[in-house]
Amino acid sequence: MTGSPPIRSRLAGKVALVTGAAQGIGEAVVRRLGDEGARVMCVDLDANVYTVAANLGSGGAALVGDVSDHRVLESAVAEAARRWGRVDILVNNAGIDGTPALLADGEERDFDRVIDVNLRACWLAMKHVLPGMVAAGGGAIVNIASVAALVGFETLSIYAASKAGVVGMTRSAALEYGRENVRVNAVCPGGVLTPLALSFMDEGSAQTWADKHALKRFARPEEIAAVVAFLASEDASFVTGAAIPVDGGMTAH
Ligand code: NAD
Repeated sequence: MTGSPPIRSRLAGKVALVTGAAQGIGEAVVRRLGDEGARVMCVDLDANVYTVAANLGSGGAALVGDVSDHRVLESAVAEAARRWGRVDILVNNAGIDGTPALLADGEERDFDRVIDVNLRACWLAMKHVLPGMVAAGGGAIVNIASVAALVGFETLSIYAASKAGVVGMTRSAALEYGRENVRVNAVCPGGVLTPLALSFMDEGSAQTWADKHALKRFARPEEIAAVVAFLASEDASFVTGAAIPVDGGMTAH
């Protein structure tokens, strides 16, 4: 029989590294990549990441650490290579929203932390996986940005700047490494029901946020993970340098 392999074995034999893997979108991505056959190196500040990795039937390992520290990412890449030989897929997902504030009320330390976690760590992780991907003949990188990279959001200017930075870095990296068969894409989620989203909404504002989407609801983390798995797979073999809104139509108007 010819044709594409069944979706559930699309990533069989692949090795992935996922940051921010302990909960929310990252946890859903780990599960989805694992369901599709990948072995996954999971990184997070939160020790729950050990449980997430241990539950992976396809093979998982975990490292607790701060992704804005280059030693953590270097160790994660080295540990994945020691266990499984290489990293084929990188998902830069760890992120924070910072303290919501009007631009003039923002604090410098908040600016530094949001940029460190959302943008600098994304750069660091790509910096440390790319040499191995190039040596292995290719790879796929998926950076989790946000609709805040595409349209403005009041009180989220620092977060929006960090995510716009992720999209800009994604496009440039795609141009630099396309000839090496490394694809680099970004996913721009709308509202996703995770601890991060719930942290800046009370019950009253939840419906207001839901109504900003054409679909009038939030995404489930699994709906973001499905697009990440597609971009990581050979089904997306001609997709690179893209910033794909997965936003229930939030940016359609
Ligand atoms: P979440 O807070 O539920 O999970 C984020 C995970 O990242 C946590 O496990 C946390 O411990 C980890 N993390 C945070 N800082 C870290 C650090 N310095 N080092 C290592 N791990 C760290 O968040 P989420 O909603 O699942 O968001 C995941 C990504 O998706 C983020 O980049 C976020 O900006 C983006 N995003 C989320 C939404 C949403 O509505 N939830 C929308 C658009 C984009």
